[in-house]
Amino acid sequence: MAIESKHPETLVLHAGYHHDSATNSVAVPIYQTTSYEFNSAEHAANLFGLKELGNIYTRLMNPTTDVLEQRVAALEGGVAGLGVASGQAASTYAILNLCEAGDNFVTSTDLYGGTWNLFANTFKQMGIEARFVDPADPDAFRKATDDRTRCYYAETLPNPKLRIFPIAEVATIGRELGVPLIIDNTAAPILCKPLALGAAIVVYSATKYLGGHGTSIGGVVVDGGTFDWEAQGDRFATLNKPDANYHGMVWTEAVKPLGPIAYILRMRCTLLRDMGAALSPMNAFQLIQGMETLPLRMRAHCENADKVAAFLKDHPQVTKVIHPSLQTGEDARRRDAALTGGNGALMGFEVKGGLEAGRKFIDSLELFHHVANIGDARSLAIHPATTTHSQLSEEDQLASGVSQGYVRLSIGIEHIDDILADLKQALDAL
Ligand code: PLP
Repeated sequence: MAIESKHPETLVLHAGYHHDSATNSVAVPIYQTTSYEFNSAEHAANLFGLKELGNIYTRLMNPTTDVLEQRVAALEGGVAGLGVASGQAASTYAILNLCEAGDNFVTSTDLYGGTWNLFANTFKQMGIEARFVDPADPDAFRKATDDRTRCYYAETLPNPKLRIFPIAEVATIGRELGVPLIIDNTAAPILCKPLALGAAIVVYSATKYLGGHGTSIGGVVVDGGTFDWEAQGDRFATLNKPDANYHGMVWTEAVKPLGPIAYILRMRCTLLRDMGAALSPMNAFQLIQGMETLPLRMRAHCENADKVAAFLKDHPQVTKVIHPSLQTGEDARRRDAALTGGNGALMGFEVKGGLEAGRKFIDSLELFHHVANIGDARSLAIHPATTTHSQLSEEDQLASGVSQGYVRLSIGIEHIDDILADLKQALDAL
């Protein structure tokens, strides 16, 4: 029985699963199996031929992962989801599902470093061109588009700059030109609904807030089901032309009885099958478990982060604080348009004294964990100039928003007094 609700608090507990049909188990069972017995030779042939949908092999689908996929899709207002082994796998497949060698896509310059490297180097080696444009001007996406452009890509709330991406503006340009916008919403689940703003596809690193407890790597792609792939047969050849990868299947035709799921079905049946970045059922369970408290956690993360930003802004050892709650002008307008559920819990600030002060501050923290991660229930900190961005020249560091004294925080859900006390004692140590 599927529970219909528009409220995230209900969806994260009920969407896609009520109880197990075999055992009546209320908790989602961990289906730790590689394969599934076919009822007959005909049943097996129907499953392989997509005449019937059902379980074949856990690299392709799994009942535990299926619940995660349905929950994230319901939360985003999409039609279907695909769980994969990591956020990196999610963004890789999201692009490869549309782009072939010789094609291009237009992407915001403001990206997670791993995604930047994937786009600038790995895809280049595969003959796919990433065209990087500054999201300060949404029209830059239009200008970079040509006949071989297959999609646009951006992050809702990219760190370290924390400039909110103009989702609605770029989605509108894309829909005018027939180009779908893919949004990485990793840093802003609950807070932002990219599909409602016009994006076609949403990707997540579920490793961060969705899971929320720092236990499991995973990723999810959600198909919004609103993009008309057939309107431009040539642009979306992977979905509209016979696919040699699946005995000549035309995906937009094949899904006619199933609903608008051509994009996500092709991803499952070809990319996931062939490249194999399958999510383990155990990790899917951990992510489902984490998601049950996602709306509560996001509220607590955001409340704490607003208070931390206000505290740091007035501290004499701090020269600059970057957090959406402090933005003004066009940045604030973009924030209000995209972040309707809170300002997010990622934050950057600069300490007086440059590199040495940044390092000393990190070494003085007691409650905060010093890790290269975000979105954990615990508060996290890192000094990018000596870690995540240390391979870049000082000039390139500055261009990506990282000064020598810059510290990145991911504010957790501990009691605010304890978070502030730890920050205060570490700043006092400078
Ligand atoms: N997208 C964003 C915004 C991220 O911050 C990260 C990881 O830090 C990823 C994608 C990649 O996710 P994963 O580490 O799960 O592969």
